[in-house]
Formats: sequence, structure tokens, C-alpha cells
Amino acid sequence: MDSAQREVLQEVEKAWPQQVAYLQALVREPSTLGNEAGVQRLMQGTFREMGLEVHTFEPDLGALSHLRGFSPPEWGYRGRPNVVGIWAAGGTGGRSLVLNGHVDVVSPEPVSQWSYDPWGAQVVGDRMYGRGVLDMKSGVSAMVYAIRAIQAAGLRLKGNVVLQSVIEEECTGNGALACLDRGFIGDGCLIPEPFPEVLVAQVGVLWGRIKVRGSAAHVMSANRAVNAIEKTYALIQAMRELEARLNKEKHPAFREVAWPINFNPAILRAGDWPSTVPAECTLEFRMGFYPGTSAQEAQAMIREQLLGAAARDPWLKENPPEITFFGFQAEGTVVNFQESPVIQTLNAAHQKVTGRALTPFASTATTDSRYFLLYYNIPATCYGPRGAALHGIDEYVELPSVLEVTKVIATFIWEWCGLG
Ligand SMILES: [Zn+2]
Repeated sequence: MDSAQREVLQEVEKAWPQQVAYLQALVREPSTLGNEAGVQRLMQGTFREMGLEVHTFEPDLGALSHLRGFSPPEWGYRGRPNVVGIWAAGGTGGRSLVLNGHVDVVSPEPVSQWSYDPWGAQVVGDRMYGRGVLDMKSGVSAMVYAIRAIQAAGLRLKGNVVLQSVIEEECTGNGALACLDRGFIGDGCLIPEPFPEVLVAQVGVLWGRIKVRGSAAHVMSANRAVNAIEKTYALIQAMRELEARLNKEKHPAFREVAWPINFNPAILRAGDWPSTVPAECTLEFRMGFYPGTSAQEAQAMIREQLLGAAARDPWLKENPPEITFFGFQAEGTVVNFQESPVIQTLNAAHQKVTGRALTPFASTATTDSRYFLLYYNIPATCYGPRGAALHGIDEYVELPSVLEVTKVIATFIWEWCGLG
């Protein structure tokens, strides 16, 4: 490591208290679906302060809906912008880089089960608690402070860096897709999602909805009615069987993963009166599937499984469930650890900073990196801080890992783009 590089890492250390406060400010913005405006204003301010060329725009459904990888939302994008900041190269001959982070977070409910305020960003020992602190506002702080450290050391890069602060990673991915569609691309992409090892494979994910009809009746004749909730059980069971089958016939990239494919019956809506048999039940679910299967093929597989189960039930055979898909229509990815230039450079940076090589990680969830890999042919991966309980109760990040990741990302940036 030469003196310029050592200086950058010293700048990361120097700004650490500031970075912790910045992460707290990000977490204190409750940026659930539809409520991202506040955090994006903050990001816009950050990018301006850093002297970046700032672009703020809402995803345009008309422009996106014909693109590969598009996921149909059931909500709009008014007042929900992406923010992109470009740090122009100070020299030529280097590679450009996209640093992408999502600022949307999932609901913290049930909040009554938390030991800490989910929007409080409380620091306890080495941990910071809060919804989104791990997934992935600490990663966003790392990419911002990595660039800030390079700037503070008075250095310039030989390739452009494009910082993308996107919405909708948790439900469609259309935020990232909108950035790429607008031409905010690069020769490589790193997303500091909270994977302490480096992402080489991710499953595909579908969101769907099953509507089951019963026949309403007063409970005094319930023996002659059909309870829609109970009929839905049979379909949940059928999805569990599909899940078990897929986990038995493992994709080779997930050989080391105990249970790669997860079915989640997530939201159940039925009934409106304790003394009335519910005549309708709607189940919203999330289902994983393997890379190499298209979203359309995965839809067909799910339909076949559900309609097959329905055909074995006299009521459901006559009243088949209505199956629709919305939100995530995300396809899976696999990359070769040895052949990805982004992973190779990141691994070298990680070794330089920590003395330890990264190991390949296969994720049972999706990330926005799929767009870069599948539809824009841009080498991409995810790597970021350590913590626990993302999407759960008492989500936290281990702060020392955020500092380490920031140093690794700073090192990765200058190795990838080249110092000008
Ligand atoms: Zn995430």
C-alpha cells in the first residue's frame, strides 16, 4: 500500500464518528414503501455536499413496463424519487463504477416486540439498532464515506463513479431498473448489501396472490358452508410440497445451502364477522426459485402446482383459485468467483485491508444486482457489513464491521477506477 492509499484509510478512520452520526440520520428517516422522500432529500444533500452531479427522478412506469426484469407494482411513484450522484473522473483510462444502495426499508411491525425504537438508531456497545440499519443503510453510509475519504485525501479517480440511491429494492427492484434505463451505468457495480462474504448466486423471487372462494353462511349452518380459510390451507400445503421438492433437487450453485428455496405465506385476508363463515380468502405469498428458470416459467410452475392441488378437492375443482402475480418478478443469477472482475478486485481489496480472502456466498434472497448481471451485462456483486435480524425484530449492525467495509470499499474503488 503506498502513502496515498494509506492516507485514504486514515481519512476513513478520521471521519468515523461523523459516519456513525450520518448512519443515525439515515435510520431516523422511516423510509418504508411510499415514505422515501425524506431520506432521498437527505441523500440529495449529501451528494451535493460532495460536489457530485446530482440527478433526482421518479421511476417512469410507462418507460419501464416493457423492459426485461420489470416487476409490476400495485402502487405509483409520485414523490418517490431515485437520487443519482456522479463523481466525474479526474483522469482518463480507468474503469467506471456504479455504487448502488437502496434506501427503502420494510415495516418494523410488530413494533411492540422491539427492545429499541426501530427509528431511534440507538448505539449499544458495538451495535446500532434500527429498521434498515443493516438492510442497508450502513452499506449506503459505507459507499458515501469511502468516496468522501478519497476526496478528503485530495485524490481523483481515472473513471467515473456513479452513486445510486434507489427506492423499491424490497418489493420490485424498479428503482435500480430506472437508473439503468436512464443510462446511469458503469463498467462494474458494487452493492453494499449486508453480506459479509461476497455474493456469487441469488435465487429468483416471485410475489403472488391466491384468491379462494368459499360459500358464506351463518355459523348455525356452517356444516353446509365452505370455509374459504380452510380451503386455502390445502393450497398452502401444496406450495410447501413444491418448496420441499425444489430444495431436494438443488441447483449446483446452492449445494452448500441447507434450504435455498423458501415459500412464505405472508398476508392472509378473510372474513369480517365471527358468526359468518368466510366466503373469500386472499393469500399473498413470496416464493423463491432457482437461477436458470425465467420468472414466467416460475409462474407456470406455481400455477400448475396450485391448480393440481385444487383438482383433487371437489369444491376447489369446481371453484378454482384465482392466481395472480404482482411485485417481485425477479430472476436468479450465478456468477463465477474466478471470472468476475468485480469480485476479483474486491477480494484483493478485502485481503489488503483485513488480511483475509472472501468466500463465495449464495443468497436465498434477491438483490438489485440481478439487473446489472442479467440485462445490462455489467459485472456486479454484493458485499457489506455484518449484523442480524434484517426484516426482523431488533435489527442491528455491528459498527466495527461498517468501518472495515468502508475501508475495503475505498480500497476497491481506487483499485477498480485507478487513481488519477
Ligand atoms: Zn437489502
